[in-house]
Amino acid sequence: MKKAFLSREQAESICAQYPTPFHIYDEAGFVANARAVLQAFAWNKGFREYFAVKATPNPAILSLLLREGCGFDCSSMTELMLAKAVGAKAEQIMFSSNDTPAEEFVYCRDMGGIINFDDITLIDYAEEALGSLPETVSCRYNPGGVFKLSNGIMDNPGDAKYGMTRDHLFEAFRMLQAKGVKHLGIHAFLASNTVTNDYYPELAAQLFQLAVELSKETGADIRFINLSGGVGIPYRPEETANDIAVIGAGVRERFEQIMVPAGLSDVAIYTEMGRFMLAPYGALVTRAIHEKHIYKEYIGVDACAVNLMRPAMYGSYHHITVLGKETAPADHSYDVVGSLCENNDKFAIDRALPEIGMGDLLFIHDTGAHGFSMGYNYNGKLRSAELLLHQDGSVEQIRRAEQPMDYFATLDGLPVYETLRQLVASREIT
Ligand SMILES: *Cc1c(COP(=O)(O)O)cnc(C)c1O
Repeated sequence: MKKAFLSREQAESICAQYPTPFHIYDEAGFVANARAVLQAFAWNKGFREYFAVKATPNPAILSLLLREGCGFDCSSMTELMLAKAVGAKAEQIMFSSNDTPAEEFVYCRDMGGIINFDDITLIDYAEEALGSLPETVSCRYNPGGVFKLSNGIMDNPGDAKYGMTRDHLFEAFRMLQAKGVKHLGIHAFLASNTVTNDYYPELAAQLFQLAVELSKETGADIRFINLSGGVGIPYRPEETANDIAVIGAGVRERFEQIMVPAGLSDVAIYTEMGRFMLAPYGALVTRAIHEKHIYKEYIGVDACAVNLMRPAMYGSYHHITVLGKETAPADHSYDVVGSLCENNDKFAIDRALPEIGMGDLLFIHDTGAHGFSMGYNYNGKLRSAELLLHQDGSVEQIRRAEQPMDYFATLDGLPVYETLRQLVASREIT
């Protein structure tokens, strides 16, 4: 059973100050999880988790993770800026971008971040933009084909736009050394949201083998192996959560089998998890405001897909708890919908839930990563606030909800902007 980290009373008291909808993050939960991750890999001297900023790009969250010892994986100029603004320094920044504009390579280099090249053609491109390459860089590998574990096909790297072929990777390592690069890293992201303890160990085994071959054939000084993201969480109540201690031990076993005998025992393990670090520790809290009885039973809530896009975009399952009705029988079947003029704006389809009354609070689980951050403004809808539930039970607003003038902000400089400003102001007064 999935349990909400807020009770109905707690949620109602928060709503008295911060109207729904909002995303709320459980600090106690994600801090304990971050510590478990570091503990699981403590056997590796240079281990670092570079939290994938795109998952939850909120400075308050990033600051807490930085304090726990995480770095940041960035993929754009603004993510690099966020990492810098919260105080991340040089080796605490990984830049795993693709289709990268020149100015972003320059910005990353100026911060001392580690550039992770997505393609061999980017090496000359970056060198031209930078004048010369940094001492330490990384290359992203894509083995092609499908990624299999004993329980079946996990994902399809051969169809993914990311990374270099094996031949390109070997050529890139030679090129980079010829251009004066001294230290190299290898990165790969081969499967997403894997709910199995076997993914990282299997990926690690492949990358360790590759590192041994690369070091033999090119003489490169390999400093780190970056297992990237992809460690999943149990969105569905019947799934079993990954055990990060088992995953860390599995990677260690492969390290000792493959890296240590090859004399590569000083190589650091890096990770770039987003989902595993934060998803279970965030929720979207929304209120039921309408019910509709046509060919199906609908519950309309005050959040919509702009607040959480995963169900609309991927058909993803997000568990829903009706707060205060945790033990009531789930004897109704509903589509839980938002207000977009798009029929995919459904948080749940044919979901068995307790009877929902108007005004009930719904706790949509597992929105702590790839939730708020995928938000958008379709239909002129505004993004919600983000709240942080501190370990002492207090609640802090860590991003306010958007207001109409935020939506109109990029019309500044046009004559209509002043009209909109007056409309908004007059509505605020009356
Ligand atoms: C999205 C992404 C991650 C994080 O992925 P999760 O599935 O959230 O763990 C890590 N690295 C790169 C390069 C990514 O694009």
